[in-house]
Amino acid sequence: MTTGEIAELQQDYLMPTYAPGLALVEGSGTSVWDAEGNEYLDFVSGIAVTNIGHCHPKMIHAVQDQVETLVHVSNLYFNEKQPLLAKKLAEHSGVPGAKCFFCNSGAEANEGLIKLARLWGSEHGKYEVITMRQSFHGRTLATLTATGQDKVKTGFGPLPEGFKYASFNDIQSVEDAVTSKTAAVLVEALQGEGGVIPADQEFLSDLRKLCDERGILLLCDEVQAGMGRTGTWFGFQNYNVMPDAFSLAKGLGNGFPVGAIVAGEKLANVFQPGHHATTFGGTPLACSAALSVIDVIESEDLLTNTMMMGAYFAEGLCEIAMKHKKWISGVRGLGLLLGLVLDVPAVPLQKKLQEKGMLALATAGNVLRLLPPLNVTQKEIERALSLMGEACAELHDEMAEQSPNPCECGAGE
Ligand SMILES: *Cc1c(COP(=O)(O)O)cnc(C)c1O
Repeated sequence: MTTGEIAELQQDYLMPTYAPGLALVEGSGTSVWDAEGNEYLDFVSGIAVTNIGHCHPKMIHAVQDQVETLVHVSNLYFNEKQPLLAKKLAEHSGVPGAKCFFCNSGAEANEGLIKLARLWGSEHGKYEVITMRQSFHGRTLATLTATGQDKVKTGFGPLPEGFKYASFNDIQSVEDAVTSKTAAVLVEALQGEGGVIPADQEFLSDLRKLCDERGILLLCDEVQAGMGRTGTWFGFQNYNVMPDAFSLAKGLGNGFPVGAIVAGEKLANVFQPGHHATTFGGTPLACSAALSVIDVIESEDLLTNTMMMGAYFAEGLCEIAMKHKKWISGVRGLGLLLGLVLDVPAVPLQKKLQEKGMLALATAGNVLRLLPPLNVTQKEIERALSLMGEACAELHDEMAEQSPNPCECGAGE
């Protein structure tokens, strides 16, 4: 089918929740191809999902083998892949006494975290969860309420009670939101959808201290930042701060849907039979996919590659930012979750890059989010930097044409 035919079929039969313009039909490593056979350098990775690249041979074999052996059994039965995966996650987390619960998506993992916090607090009448402004936690009723952005909530009321909001990287504002009913604080170590904003070291350290002093749980949403994306297994490990529990999804299955809650000793045994359940969570197939992802991250030393390529990429992006400091204010992020922060909307740059054969993501209005796979090569990053350099130079010229003084095209430096 051509892109046009796919678009027409989609318009007739799919709810218009998205407005895509590109039909992708094949992927390999850092490349994807559209329906017309054009190749793109994929620096979106399904939004931090395909962390080991498209169609990695180890994942193909793991999934194929498992499909031929056993796809699904109810959680009423043991399935060895589940505790094997849980053990890996617990060990890599470093969280003492960690135990897992598997589900299918990020929203579901966060929904589970919220239920876990409420059940933990129920004896003492604690149920409130404090989340951050600009955060993103999912689209179920509880997780969209937890999300600190009004645009996802409009029209969906009445929303569940028990959520309070604080300003990210502002410990005083969290303190002000605490009440005798506060059960937990839920935070991203690096806000992805919010605009690629890393937490300050002091903020997360103070948050841990505050939670300990007031008997509050510290929960991390690692759905986007987890699974090696920031150069450590989990985002919070950049800060040497240990949460009481965290959620995972996106990169866990490299595109096979699987999510998880990982909870430390305080919470590991709070859910008892009957408290929480799932039909599909943690099937042999899902766990095999996730085990293969962890195997690849370990055996190909992708945490080191993420650190090195992340630093290399950030340096190149800084050079581009310096060259266009009239309208690019800087670069931020951790590992291979980077944002080029513009003083103008990011969509025109995203579009220009796509025309040139590179996929990146406009986020939070003025941020170009860049998420290559964790096994990206230096050559691929060089290619991306060269395409971005070209695209920025062209945009600069276009903006100069529109404005008599090119210095005024940005909203201030
Ligand atoms: C994507 C995302 C979610 C939601 O995950 P889904 O799998 O789409 O439900 C939650 N939290 C964060 C930080 C995310 O980036």
